[in-house]
Amino acid sequence: MKERPPFPVRLDFSSGGPTDRRSVPRYAGLSQSSGAKPLANPLSRGLGMDSSAVRASMVRKLAQQGVSDPLVLAAMQAIERHRFVDTALVNQAYEDTSLPIGLGQTISKPGVVSRMLELLRNGATGKLGRVLEIGTGCGYQAAVLSQLAREVYSIERLRGLHDKARDNLRHLALPNLHLLFGDGMVGYAKGAPYAAIIAAAGGEAVPQAWVDQLAMGGRLVAPVAAGAGSPGRQALVVIDRTPQGLRQTVLEAVHFVPLKSGVA
Ligand code: SAH
Repeated sequence: MKERPPFPVRLDFSSGGPTDRRSVPRYAGLSQSSGAKPLANPLSRGLGMDSSAVRASMVRKLAQQGVSDPLVLAAMQAIERHRFVDTALVNQAYEDTSLPIGLGQTISKPGVVSRMLELLRNGATGKLGRVLEIGTGCGYQAAVLSQLAREVYSIERLRGLHDKARDNLRHLALPNLHLLFGDGMVGYAKGAPYAAIIAAAGGEAVPQAWVDQLAMGGRLVAPVAAGAGSPGRQALVVIDRTPQGLRQTVLEAVHFVPLKSGVA
């Protein structure tokens, strides 16, 4: 199979959909909590409060934005996002915003992470089987995924970020999360077929290897360039492998770092 599923010529980018910042109330309560004890971890000092309460507030907002999968919400509550960002950014860790993680890359905003994970799970009652993530970055989404799947393979093309993710994830000791250094454009054939594949970087098209490595009944969620007419624009694309063939759904506009080939 050489051709990728057809991409619609025109996408409506006028309403930002669930990722529209305008619809997201900014969280201003980071310094307002009372009775909270400072966390022991030095990375947490910037929060100066019990981070679980701030996460609960973030999770409530995610639910208000329409995320309803209880496993996704529980995983967003469980994983401490502030441990994955630089100390100087810790106070913004629970705002619905993307943040720099070094080497020109960003950690996706919680609203987008939870939206994509909810799409990926597609209403499954239990955990997903094997999942492939392209773009480990700082490791945050991989950690959330590890709560939602039996096995997670996460691949990163930048050595510096691969190492950083390993450091960030050490405290969690997640035996079902496997970090790989390599070019995720070719997927990771050794772990295939995957029940689900998620990309955190957007290319011109969905690489054929990803589709090939998707199990029957599996689902792929990725940002993809919206194509000619909308330069620089991306949309979230869902591809399902069904017994009748591949089914593609194009969703809202998103903004991800570019998918690049090779390693660095
Ligand atoms: N999920 C990440 C988001 C990181 S941003 C997090 O939670 O932090 C996307 C990442 O994709 C970047 O680190 C970038 O280097 C990586 N990336 C881009 N193209 C890639 C490729 N072909 N293979 C693997 N990783 C890639």
